[in-house]
Amino acid sequence: MNSWPRITLPSIAGHEFPTLKLVDSDLGLVTVNAPSDFRIYVCGITPYDATHLGHAATYLAFDLINRYQSLSGRSVNFVENVTDIDDPLLERAKRDNSNWRSLADTQTELFKADMSALRVLPPNALVKVTESIAIIDDFIKKLDSRGFLYEISGDYYFSVGEYLTGLPVSLSGAVKIFAERGGDPDRQGKKHQLDPLVWSANTDGEPGWESSFGFGRPGWHVECTAIACKYLDKDSNNPILHLQGGGSDLIFPHHFMSAQIVKAAYGREFSKYFVHAAMIGLDGEKMSKSKGNLVFASKLISDGVDPMAIRWALLQGHYQEDRAWSKNLLSESEIQIATIRRALAQSEVTDSKKLIAGIIADLANNLDTPRALKRLLSWSEQSINAGSVNQSGLVSRSIDSLLGLAL
Ligand code: ZN
Repeated sequence: MNSWPRITLPSIAGHEFPTLKLVDSDLGLVTVNAPSDFRIYVCGITPYDATHLGHAATYLAFDLINRYQSLSGRSVNFVENVTDIDDPLLERAKRDNSNWRSLADTQTELFKADMSALRVLPPNALVKVTESIAIIDDFIKKLDSRGFLYEISGDYYFSVGEYLTGLPVSLSGAVKIFAERGGDPDRQGKKHQLDPLVWSANTDGEPGWESSFGFGRPGWHVECTAIACKYLDKDSNNPILHLQGGGSDLIFPHHFMSAQIVKAAYGREFSKYFVHAAMIGLDGEKMSKSKGNLVFASKLISDGVDPMAIRWALLQGHYQEDRAWSKNLLSESEIQIATIRRALAQSEVTDSKKLIAGIIADLANNLDTPRALKRLLSWSEQSINAGSVNQSGLVSRSIDSLLGLAL
């Protein structure tokens, strides 16, 4: 599938880029050691309610990593999937009496338009699950040939037992979360409660595909691992990826299971780092499908909100801290970007060297965007009062490159 249109990153001359530091969900603060290539896989949307601001905040975080690594001279290979076949999607289509495929296609196009408006760099590959059935089939065959697959009434499970170490929560806690997030711990005949489904036999009327495991559809975790390995495992690297990313609600079971499934299939580690973005709340609750309290980027944009104000508002908070969206936050952001635009429209501004170096240092420090934005705002206020050098174009290009803010 085509991604959204490319964005050119203006280069930033005369500045050093320190090695990026990020907080990994298992390892804590890490210095991201990556060679000249950087392979990143980010779990994409299930296209039936794109793009709420929780999604947007997650993709902005990984966009900043993509930008930073690219600007520091690395070749970034960024792959993202679209889970365009999944229970919630089918349930929504049924509820609305619509066709699941046209719902998925419409929402995917909306997502791409939102990402483009929010100035997120397009992935090198944006891959639909429904276009990847043969890839997933091959991956499941690997699990089978290494003895990690078993069948219950036409459904196939990954036997996680051997790799069930390092659970991020207690076993009973894990079973509870597994059930809440689409797992079936209590099914009769399973070898372990946490074994995930990798291929589901077709049930009446549901969409399905032919495969080596019968007519049906793939399970969630194996979709991402198959796509990530197909697109990013070019040279038998170990680990296969440098970074797997997504929202913090994917830590367990999705990312945990993905890591174990790849170990079983390939005998190699899936990803060197696992980085997660926090959740966005509204009125004191997490913004989520189940709560129905979603604010959509496309709705704000069609109401006339500047996408850069949305981007600024989301970057005002730190990507790994749960935070709230509010009308106040948006209106404050609109005032702040107006101040920055006013400074950038001047022919003379305050010297920019320290500002740009400061923003680079903030980003290198686990994407400290709240600090970078404060720095930019205070530079703008100073520039409005006492500009002396002709550098507004330089600042404008630099904040576009580093922060994705085209102001
Ligand atoms: Zn995924």
